[in-house]
Amino acid sequence: MEKRSLAYEGKAKKLYETDDESVFLVEYLDQATALNGAKKDAVKGKGQMNNQITSQIFEKLTVKGIQSHFIEKISKNEQLVKRVEMIPLEIVVRNVAAGSFSKRLDITEGTDLPFPITEFYYKEDRLDDPFINDDHVAFLQVATKEEVQKIKELALQVNHLLQELFLSIDIRLIDFKIEVGRTEDGTILLADEISPDTCRLWDVNTNDHLDKDVYRRDLGDLIPVYEEVLQRLEEKGA
Ligand code: UDP
Repeated sequence: MEKRSLAYEGKAKKLYETDDESVFLVEYLDQATALNGAKKDAVKGKGQMNNQITSQIFEKLTVKGIQSHFIEKISKNEQLVKRVEMIPLEIVVRNVAAGSFSKRLDITEGTDLPFPITEFYYKEDRLDDPFINDDHVAFLQVATKEEVQKIKELALQVNHLLQELFLSIDIRLIDFKIEVGRTEDGTILLADEISPDTCRLWDVNTNDHLDKDVYRRDLGDLIPVYEEVLQRLEEKGA
């Protein structure tokens, strides 16, 4: 597969055209950002870690029947994905109160939620990715009501499978964010990445943070923590 021109540059990834117009090459960068880009640092080795972790997770989800954009990992920091029309939403699923949920509703971080809570954020930098509901999604013509239903079902299915996967390596899935895309025939596919950048992961025994909160909250070095997650996934991840 030939890497051609740069199609899109995000905060932590670059997307390239390839000689197959239905395939993009994603390069994971050694860059950490938080607070919508206000905090930004070069972190050597992070791109490789996230590419490897995301690839492992997407492969495991594929085996469990989740349709995604992921094709294959082709190098330490690159993977091939199917070209889809991205839906400009961040879909968050929460099992335990943390982060913005704890702040907004004044719920102590670490409180178990009685059922998984799904949230939508509209991906629009100009507006700082506002929290929106199903009606807003339809009003903004970001997705139809039927698609919203499908997206929620997919998010909950992914939550169930990820909880199972992470528990098998002694990690609690506190919350996570996914993004989805639409194929030409209208199928909704899981897209983007699933990694410690996009999940809150707490060690089952110590409640230590094994995710980007280490960076967001200045709790220490990110790389050893991401290495720990990758190592556990490679060694015994279900
Ligand atoms: N998240 C993400 N990208 C974002 C915002 C959130 O991947 O731009 C993930 C984050 O890692 C966490 C979940 O979504 O696992 C919920 O994040 P929250 O709304 O609590 O926001 P935060 O406290 O991170 O600002």
